[in-house]
Amino acid sequence: MESENEKSLQDAASQDANDPLGQFRDRFHIPTGQDGEPLIYFSGHSLGLMPRKCFDDVTAELEAWRDLAVAGHLEGRHPWFPYHESFRASGARLVGAEPIEIVFMNTLTANLHFLLVSFYRPTSGRNRILCDSPTFPSDLYALQAQARWHRLDPDDVVQVMKLREGESSLRDDDVLQAIDDQRDKLALVMFSGVNYYTGQAFDIEAIAARCQQYGITFGLDLAHAAGNLDLKLHDHGVDFATWCTYKYGNAGPGAVAGAFVHERHADDQELVRLAGWWGNDPATRFRMDENTKFIAHPGAEGWQVSNPPIFSMAPLRTSLEIFDEAGITALRERSIRLTGYLEQRIDSIGTDHYQIITPRNPDRRGAQISIRVIGDASALQQSLEEAGIITDFRPPDVVRVAPTPLYNTFEEIHRFTEVLESVAQIGTKRGRD
Ligand SMILES: *Cc1c(COP(=O)(O)O)cnc(C)c1O
Repeated sequence: MESENEKSLQDAASQDANDPLGQFRDRFHIPTGQDGEPLIYFSGHSLGLMPRKCFDDVTAELEAWRDLAVAGHLEGRHPWFPYHESFRASGARLVGAEPIEIVFMNTLTANLHFLLVSFYRPTSGRNRILCDSPTFPSDLYALQAQARWHRLDPDDVVQVMKLREGESSLRDDDVLQAIDDQRDKLALVMFSGVNYYTGQAFDIEAIAARCQQYGITFGLDLAHAAGNLDLKLHDHGVDFATWCTYKYGNAGPGAVAGAFVHERHADDQELVRLAGWWGNDPATRFRMDENTKFIAHPGAEGWQVSNPPIFSMAPLRTSLEIFDEAGITALRERSIRLTGYLEQRIDSIGTDHYQIITPRNPDRRGAQISIRVIGDASALQQSLEEAGIITDFRPPDVVRVAPTPLYNTFEEIHRFTEVLESVAQIGTKRGRD
């Protein structure tokens, strides 16, 4: 048994050694435990690790502020006025968009509200919103608030899809059927790209096509999908999307969020929006005395309200450079291998102890396995902590594990599943005693 474990550990280590993307781990600070050893960090779905270069890049902006003050808007290494332009294309590549479709602004839930103001326009016939489940509370609050804003009853309007009895993710066909069934009542389909709890990735292309067929607006929350899946927002025809950048995006706590508005809406001056000066055409943005009528900047930038937070954008810029270098297609390929390896190792322990609630099809999940613990979940949590392994525990019994392709390794997955296995063995022994 011992030697079998040794051998599989060696196999994992050699997979790491032979993986060209393995080198990107060195670009990140890996936090250490009390013993000074690197922690095994599987919480990239909550807060991604810090790229080492962030430190210098943020400091450079602090220095520019110190030394240049207001002149920093137009002078210095990275003038702040056109700051976002240098990474707009990288941001677009990450989600499969055209640069005009992308803007980084605000935070995720704030963006949801801004975008819903424009893209949730209920009429007396069509006012419903369909969303996936379980729905992240913040998204649900935003949707309910928007319904109330339109003087509608949230309980009538917000339709959360129901799981089938005994199943933990939604079936693709059931999603499309739900759209078919309510085709004349739905104003909006608002899904997550990857469900935060189960890790289920939805068939964005099929849902977008069905929505277009019926003239229903399709919006996405990409909190757990951006920097994780190889998205094609433009080609799939999604109307709008938003995502935070501190999860797989590695841009730091509360970092500025991304927003996508499809090119087909780029020049629509009639769309209702909560306007501010930064969304105005730059040609007239600063003519404060004479320009009193809002002229929307073409594309997603027309949804900006305020001038951007540079200190929050500096780490994003650094992080997007890394994504550009590695390439999201290659990262996704590595991610599928890492997550598949994790799945296989958990399965080999046996379903009496652990049940995977994430879809089994690699196309229907991202870099995440959610494990339902049968038995004592808190004992597992404690053992993981003692072993220096950081995961995310959702009471009462689900552990979410995200092997992220930029910095996690096969060896780390092996070490994690060793702990799972030893806790399961103790549990079995106790059960017998
Ligand atoms: C992480 C997450 C959020 C976070 O919202 P903030 O506005 O950034 O605080 C929202 N929705 C989903 C689905 C998430 O996973």
